Amino acid sequence: MPENVARESLYLTTPIFYANAEPHLGHAYTMVLADVLARFWRARGRDVFVVTGTDEHGDKIAQVAAAAGVAPKAHTDRVSGQFRAAWDGAGLRYDHFVRTTDPQHQRFVQKILADIHARGDIYFGSYRGLYCYGCERFYQERELVDGRCPDHGTPPAEIAEENYFFRMGAYQERLLQLLDDRPDLIFPDGYRREVLGVLREPIGDLCISRPKTRLDWGIELPFDDRYVTYVWFDALFSYMSPLEALGRMDLWPSVEHLIAKDILKQHAIFWPTMLMAADLPVYRRLCVHGYWQVNEGKMSKSIGNVVRPGDMKARYGMDAFRYYLLRDMAFGQDADFSEVGLIARLNGDLANGLGNLASRVLAMQQRYFKGVVQPRAEEPPDAQLREAFAVARRSSDAHVEAFAFHRALEEIWRAIEQANRYVTETAPFTLAKDPARLPRVGAILHELCEALRTSAQLLEPFLPETAVRLAEQLGFPPPRLAELDLPWGQAFPPAHRTAAPQALFPRIDAPPD
Ligand SMILES: [Zn+2]
Repeated sequence: MPENVARESLYLTTPIFYANAEPHLGHAYTMVLADVLARFWRARGRDVFVVTGTDEHGDKIAQVAAAAGVAPKAHTDRVSGQFRAAWDGAGLRYDHFVRTTDPQHQRFVQKILADIHARGDIYFGSYRGLYCYGCERFYQERELVDGRCPDHGTPPAEIAEENYFFRMGAYQERLLQLLDDRPDLIFPDGYRREVLGVLREPIGDLCISRPKTRLDWGIELPFDDRYVTYVWFDALFSYMSPLEALGRMDLWPSVEHLIAKDILKQHAIFWPTMLMAADLPVYRRLCVHGYWQVNEGKMSKSIGNVVRPGDMKARYGMDAFRYYLLRDMAFGQDADFSEVGLIARLNGDLANGLGNLASRVLAMQQRYFKGVVQPRAEEPPDAQLREAFAVARRSSDAHVEAFAFHRALEEIWRAIEQANRYVTETAPFTLAKDPARLPRVGAILHELCEALRTSAQLLEPFLPETAVRLAEQLGFPPPRLAELDLPWGQAFPPAHRTAAPQALFPRIDAPPD
């Protein structure tokens, strides 16, 4: 590629996770998606930048810290550290970790607030309303269920106070127009329709301050030191503040946000109108995933069914956990999490499917040829195998581009299953009993090494550790991973040696009690 042609960029964000409790399955799933997409697009030449981090202001954090008898910053230092350690320990990579307590982020938010205030889109007014401390928001009477918060089941407090308001309603028409002009702005389409439904009613203005008399844990308003900023007006700008600090604002037009559906409204209504008011471009795409249901309910620590990513990694290995999450959830829809389901995928698709193929092929390669890959001599079943992997590559790429990760894996496994059938049908272990047929045995194993090499390459975004281990066993240690991307039949030069097989996946009997 000529040097003067900039590589196409992709700026991916996960939510800036709220630092009131430790990381759970929902957070881990979004991080896995970001990691898969980053690996996939980097391998295809795009300049990918990933930001995650922690959202550290607001009532809930002040309350949790007070209950624990520590300062809010001491609490968020600890929880933010837990998030970082969870992602680092799981091999989930990011390029920058932002904290909303970072001084540069706070300065950035104050600059934006001062700017929107100067343009006249922030005004001072009084407000009386029903406030839920758990949700950190005011409720309309009609939104309550039997007079209680629909999420928390607690009665809201009646609060009257003077505050600053963002003229969000003034941008409603522009937002509708944008959704019309860019039908892919919110993806999948069901969430776009949900947002259009909300926009049929007036969205009103947004209270963006909290008086310090009630809450002082936040970013002070630059134009009134009696107030701090509402946590969402602060947190959403953490998608942008790191880029300014790093001198990478060039990435902003390529931004795609990955979120779970619980924060759709903030990202689909608050955020674009805030960007419009600040005269900044709206994101390229908002990609919304569903919930993982555990024991048929939304996962919540209070009901004792929290799934810790670190536990899953320790029990089953990170790749098996990743495979299960990607294979069993259709992006955008809800899915049920169960360790029994995870174990079924691990024993079936991974151990019996891919693991068994690798160990059979590499064991025969050792037994008959001391690991040396033999020349090819294509016969009809060989061409069918090659074609199966060509199809898997084309269709899995298309599925990843459409966020159908479960379909991408299904397509790759279709080819792996064909490779297992090819072993049974060509029966190299039977042919090898006749010394005259050894050249054919060598040629069959060469095709199968190509199948494994292509599998490692296709699986790298999804199962990075497995891809490295499989490539190593095929005789491509990590510095040579890039060499896996070759046309079929060209990866194994004469005298190339494969290594002795080592099990890729352990078989597991049952989840621990
Ligand atoms: Zn609530």
